[in-house]
This record gives sequence, structure tokens and C-alpha cells, in this order.
Amino acid sequence: MGDVIDFTEAQLRLGDHMVRGTAADGMIRAIAVTARSTVETARRNHGSSPLVTAALGRLMMAGLMMGAMNKGDDELITLEMHGDGPIGGLTVTANNKGQVKGFANHPNVWLPPNGLGKLDVGGGVGRGTLTVVRDLPGMAPYTSQTELVSGEVGDDLAAYFTLSDQVPTSVGVGVLVAPDAHVLQAGGFIVQLMPDHEYFLIDELERNLRDVTSVTALLERGMGPSDVLRLVLAGLDYEELEVSPVEFYCGCNKERATRATLALGRTELEDMVAKGETAEVHCHFCGTTHYLSPDELRALLEDSPVV
Ligand SMILES: [Zn+2]
Repeated sequence: MGDVIDFTEAQLRLGDHMVRGTAADGMIRAIAVTARSTVETARRNHGSSPLVTAALGRLMMAGLMMGAMNKGDDELITLEMHGDGPIGGLTVTANNKGQVKGFANHPNVWLPPNGLGKLDVGGGVGRGTLTVVRDLPGMAPYTSQTELVSGEVGDDLAAYFTLSDQVPTSVGVGVLVAPDAHVLQAGGFIVQLMPDHEYFLIDELERNLRDVTSVTALLERGMGPSDVLRLVLAGLDYEELEVSPVEFYCGCNKERATRATLALGRTELEDMVAKGETAEVHCHFCGTTHYLSPDELRALLEDSPVV
């Protein structure tokens, strides 16, 4: 019996998307993503160098996949990598609907290639910490932190899952950047062994993973996330559960920018109105600058007597 794929799902698989599945009677759960346009949007928004595009793209895809693994409705996940490398820090926020945004503290870092001839993401991030913040509406955020293993993102996330969540996890994330800085490929996977797993699965998985040295190389060969998971979970009765779209999305808008402006306080705002100044609110996540004219600031002060 062949797979039945409807037209919309076939269309979905042409663009950025995520695939969720299980294997070995539910003892393994897996997720994979392809996100070229999503990472390219981040690159354009931030004007980032190839190195930073790769670092940020890897973390964005990790965020997308971890967001999709969240069961809770409206849960937000934020990943922060802070290191002593020249990038300084990377911040990514994803929801469980396939939407992600992110930025780097220093988007224009260039370093020589690493020993493997690849973009030196580990050198750009340096030594430091990975912080994972899970935000559920109406609840205090849940934060956990681990030391970075290599700053290469995939290893760091795998260590986080194994140490903090105590779930043996393999994470592969990669971004291939063209010489002109455009994103050619971006993809990743997360494979986890559930607590009731049988030990032989570890060997099987490790054997399969030895063949998957580079996710972007697989994408270059025309594979999608579904094919990547079938390769990683070969011989383990892989079962696909869900295909869903992913995108770069920042929820910032003029209304939120207006609220942020109120934080300046009445004196400062009155001063700006008097001088005829326009307020600029810059969003780090998407690079958009929202402007409030003196007239809009005046209206804001009239509407907000408490400020
Ligand atoms: Zn924004």
C-alpha cells in the first residue's frame, strides 16, 4: 500500500516544513525540518555574515523542532546561547505552530574556516551557556541551563536534552551558505529515545547516525525531512505522524511598539513632543523599526493619563 498524500500536503512539502514521527513502537520519537526560506529571511532581516547565518539558523531550527515537541497550547520556547566568542549571543523564540524568530548580538562576525574547512560556528559562539526558557501562559517561565559543549549548536542541544531532561537525544542541524551569503540549504533533526526504550536501539541508532554526517548534504541530494528521518531510523519501523509548515514570524507591530514607548515615561515623551521628535522602536528579532510621529506621541499621552 502506497502513502496517500493529498494535494495540499504535497504542496506543503515543497516549501519549508517539519515532519514528526515515531519508530520502534513509540520507543523513539523524531522530528526533522527543512527551513531554507526561514533562515534566509533571518539573514536578510539582520544582514548577517555567513558564519552568523549558520549559527542563528541552526539555533532557529532547534527552536522550531523543540517548539513542535511541546504538547502545551500556546507554549513558547526561547533558546539563548551566550558565549565568549565574537558573536556574543544568539536568541531564538519559537512557538508550537512552526513559527520562529531570532537574532544574534553581533550579526557581522567573520572567522577563518575551522579545521574541517567549514564555517566556524563553535569558534564564533565560544565557551558559555545554553539557556532554555519554556513559557506557558499564566504560569511562571521554566528555565534550565547547561554548559555549551562545543558551541556548534547540535552538540549543545543534545547535551541539554541528555543532562537537563535526561532523555538520550541526537541533534543534527546544518546551514549551507553560498559564497554570495545566500542560504542554499537549512535542515535538521532531533531523535529521542523514550524512557522505556530497549537497549539494542542505541546501537542501531548509532549505526544509522554514522551515515548521516551532514544534513545539508542530504538536502543537496534532493532529500526532504521525511527522507532524512527514514535514513536515520532505517530498519526501526519509522512511522510518519504529521507534516506542518514552518516560517520566520515576528509578532511585533505598531501597537506593541506604542506600548514599549510608554515605558519611556511621561516626562521623556512630553519632551519629545515639544521637540517634534519621532520615536523609533527597534525590534531586535526581525530588524523592523516602528516609528511614532510627534502627533501619535501626543495622542498616546492624552490616551494614557496614568503614564
Ligand atoms: Zn519584530
